[in-house]
Amino acid sequence: MSKKSFFDHSDEFDHAVEKPYRTRQILEWVFSKYVFDFSLMTDLPLPLRQKLASEWDIIPLTELSRQQSKEDGTVKFLFQAGDHILTESVLMTSRERRTLCVSTQAGCRNGCRFCATGAMGFQRDLTAGEIIGQILYASPLTNIVFMGMGEPLDNFDSLTSVLHLLNDSDKMNFGARRVTISTVGIPDKIRELANQNRQFGLSWSLHAPDDELRSFLMPINKAYPIRKVMNAFKYYKKTTGGNLTVEYILIKGVNDSSSAALKTAGIALEIGAKVNLIPYNPHPYADFYRSEKETIELFSDILQKEGVITTLRESKGKDIDAACGQLAGRHTKEVL
Ligand code: SAH
Ligand code: SF4
Repeated sequence: MSKKSFFDHSDEFDHAVEKPYRTRQILEWVFSKYVFDFSLMTDLPLPLRQKLASEWDIIPLTELSRQQSKEDGTVKFLFQAGDHILTESVLMTSRERRTLCVSTQAGCRNGCRFCATGAMGFQRDLTAGEIIGQILYASPLTNIVFMGMGEPLDNFDSLTSVLHLLNDSDKMNFGARRVTISTVGIPDKIRELANQNRQFGLSWSLHAPDDELRSFLMPINKAYPIRKVMNAFKYYKKTTGGNLTVEYILIKGVNDSSSAALKTAGIALEIGAKVNLIPYNPHPYADFYRSEKETIELFSDILQKEGVITTLRESKGKDIDAACGQLAGRHTKEVL
């Protein structure tokens, strides 16, 4: 019989341990000591430890494989959930940072033309336990980005449960400013998140500065056009003070013109966002190419001349298909 997930059935769990302080003891082991095995929680009575270990899981995922990039040390984890669906997370490390790129869904229903996850269609939302499980598995971390498979705001309830587990001072106590949620931009959900009034960073996958091109690249734009999303982001910034970033993939001959750069600058300045330029990461599911180096530099120069803080993201883990937009939950036999 498969075990029950601690974070996904918390009422039932509280009932099983009987005394509320037991749950608090367990949360302390999980979030302060990164111990996920009930049998090692030595301040619980032995019979309870044994019972919990046989019936409950803290991380409801099994690691199937991990691949490490030879170029930059990035690690891609492939996990299997209880119903056999696959999901991935990516750990990027530098001297001072350990950043985890987390998935919120298996697949994605938004079908953006340039995205490998979009090409695989939608399988299901991940549960809060499966999302926080990826995070705990790779902890301790300095930064968390919701930029893996799926659209975080399409799985809003699980996302917000996880954000609270992360940020609450009696849980993981992880600073909101070290968390970034990447989204295509769903206005109602951005406002709902704003009203929770925490300073999580939001990243907007813009990728085209006018509605016609954006609707071609990202069909969701027909439902949520640029102006509506801009207004929601302005509300988020005003309400929470959280950082805003515009993400812009540069695709050769598609969205990399100088006039696109100028329009993008206008959007970023109006909402108070910096811009993160990402050279397109090629994969077998789309027929696009990365913009030339000179085009990328020109695009960046135009933004900067307009007064926009601009960074160029060098994608990590390209040799193991771990870069943004390349996650497709494929099983691989290559194990570290
Ligand atoms: N659904 C969310 C988060 C997951 S995608 C979103 O779309 O924002 C994370 C980032 O990867 C997004 O900015 C997305 O647009 C980008 N991305 C998708 N495909 C890509 C590709 N082939 N090359 C580079 N970035 C890509
Ligand atoms: Fe989904 Fe984001 Fe990929 Fe679009 S870019 S298909 S929203 S994961």
